[in-house]
Amino acid sequence: MRLVMSLALTILAASVLGCDAKPPPATTEAEAQATQTNTAAVPATNPGQTQVVFLGTGTPLPDPDRAGPSTAVVVNGSAYLFDTGAGVVRRAMAAARNGIPALNSVNLKTAFLTHLHSDHTLGLPDLILTPWVMGRQEPLELYGPVGTAAMTKGIQAAWAEDIDRRLNDLQPSPAHGYQVNVHEIAPGVVLKDDNVTITAIPVPHGPWIAFGYKIDTADRSIVISGDTRPTPALAEACKQCDLLIMEVYTLGSTARVTPAWKAYREAYHVSTKEVAEIAKQSRPKLLVLYHRANPGCDQAGTDCRGTGSEAEALAEIKQFYDGPVIEAHDLDVR
Ligand SMILES: [Zn+2]
Ligand SMILES: [Zn+2]
Repeated sequence: MRLVMSLALTILAASVLGCDAKPPPATTEAEAQATQTNTAAVPATNPGQTQVVFLGTGTPLPDPDRAGPSTAVVVNGSAYLFDTGAGVVRRAMAAARNGIPALNSVNLKTAFLTHLHSDHTLGLPDLILTPWVMGRQEPLELYGPVGTAAMTKGIQAAWAEDIDRRLNDLQPSPAHGYQVNVHEIAPGVVLKDDNVTITAIPVPHGPWIAFGYKIDTADRSIVISGDTRPTPALAEACKQCDLLIMEVYTLGSTARVTPAWKAYREAYHVSTKEVAEIAKQSRPKLLVLYHRANPGCDQAGTDCRGTGSEAEALAEIKQFYDGPVIEAHDLDVR
């Protein structure tokens, strides 16, 4: 059995923290309805038109309506994934069924990690192995911060017996589809091909090394925040971009969580008011919220009285920002 990884650029050392814990349960009925998985047919598009597909809009909360964070940009039949949260391959197959064949599992060949928190990477073993088992011929091209190579090596070691059996026993398996070409990236342009120019934007997320990404195509410009504190880098990257996709927590829920959770949010994430400020400075055609800190409060079981909802997030943003804003749901296409 061969485990192959190529290592490209390297930057600063990463520090490893605990997982990105964001408040759990108590989803309200209205919230549940608002976040139900979208199974509607994808709107017809012109050939060559860039589509952004929200595969997962969730957080660490195992909400059945919101898979772990993952966003696909589809251009000319090629898919570029940003983050690989839990459920990524199954959500991609749902999008393929909805009419986007570029997201069929065997076509998932290129992914970018914003950072290595578990909620953003739990689907990485799935993305490495499932498309291969389904017949992907090529290695996965994986871009991410320092530590991506070690994580990939660990995943391949964990599944070493599986890989060995599939390669060397009766099951016919492509020779290279389980492999990963890892590119540990620095800020700046990290991929340029016929479809896209992708730029990594350094963003502050506690002491963690994290990136947002800007994706420029022939017809659109898209910025994805990943997990971040407020930073001028995101507004500069967007500058009247088509879509600014931002993580967020609400002020209402943060006023009710425990002091420890409040301190964590304020050190690692971005509030509605701060998102509004970034949007004011960059004026996107559409501001899209995702990875909203969960309704229902914190793991300490605090009664947060229904705060943190989608409706609250949108209402708070609108207090500070007058441009168009929506919250994404899983399988939405923009
Ligand atoms: Zn994070
Ligand atoms: Zn996160």
